[in-house]
Amino acid sequence: MRTPLIAGNWKMFKTVRESVAFVIDLRDRVAGLTGVDIVVAPTFPALHAVAGALEGSPIGVAAQNLHWEREGAFTGEVSAAMVREAGAAWAIIGHSERRTLFGETDDTVNRKVRAALTATLVPIVCIGETLQEREAERTLDVLDRQIKAGLDGVTGTELAGMVLAYEPVWAIGTGRTATPAQAQQAHEHIRGRLTQWFGQDASSRCRILYGGSVKPDNIAALMANPDVDGALVGGASLDADGFTKIVTRGRR
Ligand code: PEP
Repeated sequence: MRTPLIAGNWKMFKTVRESVAFVIDLRDRVAGLTGVDIVVAPTFPALHAVAGALEGSPIGVAAQNLHWEREGAFTGEVSAAMVREAGAAWAIIGHSERRTLFGETDDTVNRKVRAALTATLVPIVCIGETLQEREAERTLDVLDRQIKAGLDGVTGTELAGMVLAYEPVWAIGTGRTATPAQAQQAHEHIRGRLTQWFGQDASSRCRILYGGSVKPDNIAALMANPDVDGALVGGASLDADGFTKIVTRGRR
């Protein structure tokens, strides 16, 4: 049985002070809530302070990105070991904004996944098709390519503890959500491929999140699908009231 996971991706929003105030409030709002795991992903400068404010709380902290090298002359980059030491236990990898705006490829995603695992971070690996790819009926091929290349060299044991996030690019920040049926179709396909490539045990334990304009009023219908194990939430995770509703309605 997979515990649902609701992860909030704050993107480039909230200062350090705003981030800390937000999680102090959130911690109280979700105190005692069972049947769901919660993660927030602040900006790099806020990671350490947010992790400190959440010490002793079940809410996890994720980095939004990392570099695959441990250290070196890579101006502007932050390594997996560094975010781990700052207090993050999770890392979002290969978000579509990173792929489209910052040139990330399946190869760099794979390097980052391996670096995260080495640093004992739980990778949340984002995959998903563009509108053009969906309209050309290439969705499942794109997902296959992203999974195969992005998870190259990952073992079944590692996969079991990992998280994949199916995020159709056309649904991110657009207010246009995949229908529950579209989400389930993609998730079922992903689960099938994971079974084929990593084995039944790993596949049945790996959590697959849906992401793309998740809101308090659509989370329940998405979560009613057997292969949807939670959500990666962008815009709606920035509001404590809305995010708490999503977390509460995302429980199983
Ligand atoms: C995201 O950033 O991963 C995301 C899904 O954004 P939004 O919920 O705003 O569509």
